[in-house]
Amino acid sequence: MSTVIPRQSGYVQTNLETVKATPEELYANKQFRLYSGLKWLNISVILAMHLMALAALFTFQWDSLLVMVVLYTWAGMGITLGYHRMLTHRGLILHPIARFVIHLGACLSMQGPPLKWALTHRIHHACSDQPGDPHSPIDGVFWSHMLWLGAGRDTAIEASLQRKYIPDLANDPLCLFFTRTYLLWNILLGLILLWLGGISWLAWGMFLRVVLGFHMTWLVNSATHIWGYRNYETPDRSRNLWWVALFTFGEGWHNNHHAQPTSAYHGHRWWEIDLTGWMVTALCTTGLAHRVVGPKVFKRERLKY
Ligand SMILES: [Zn+2]
Ligand SMILES: [Zn+2]
Repeated sequence: MSTVIPRQSGYVQTNLETVKATPEELYANKQFRLYSGLKWLNISVILAMHLMALAALFTFQWDSLLVMVVLYTWAGMGITLGYHRMLTHRGLILHPIARFVIHLGACLSMQGPPLKWALTHRIHHACSDQPGDPHSPIDGVFWSHMLWLGAGRDTAIEASLQRKYIPDLANDPLCLFFTRTYLLWNILLGLILLWLGGISWLAWGMFLRVVLGFHMTWLVNSATHIWGYRNYETPDRSRNLWWVALFTFGEGWHNNHHAQPTSAYHGHRWWEIDLTGWMVTALCTTGLAHRVVGPKVFKRERLKY
């Protein structure tokens, strides 16, 4: 019989006992989160987007496919280059115009406002595959892939973790602007697509594109902590997985990333194609990016093989 964990008790239930927990563990622990309730907003949005994406099956047009590819690339780069490598890990600094464009793309991915994304991801790096990791496959493959998004969270604990993990972002004007206007941009894009291309553009450019983006990001949390090879002996279970890297513009080289989190380049061998890294180089060449953190010298003795 499972023990009921009092809300905000500071304790979590393990398989064998109830133990004192850190705020990170309370924030991430599966049983504690489920006891805190469900995040109906997340669940509703994810379910609705999947259902509406089915409309794409009946409304195919070549121009809709093109619109989807363009928006998938913009939103995907927004996540990988913007939310992840720039905001969360401070791997580069972008010119204000490029920063705005890339932030906007990230918002259009519908993966949440910037501060929440950065907070979750910094905690993931601090507690990778340990108690406190918000989405480790150790807690279940589907938990790490998507179920963790639907479980409740204690707002007081979240506020304390925000103070600890993202003090540098809390007052960032652009982060605050996009946190406030996050929903507005998505509604605006939906209306523009409907106006310009009807249901087909909306289904492909919004619903299907967002759902594909969801699963690609989620695969980085699930699949690249399960399958693939390792270049570095990191203390976590991160792996390099080529097919995830292909569709996530380089994020699938996840073991490289865990070994050198601040690097703006995730492909460390010549065949590890990292489209986001190529974009970083292009932005540097045109003067739109600077203070780029590169990968440390690749030392063969550190390799597993
Ligand atoms: Zn990871
Ligand atoms: Zn990261």
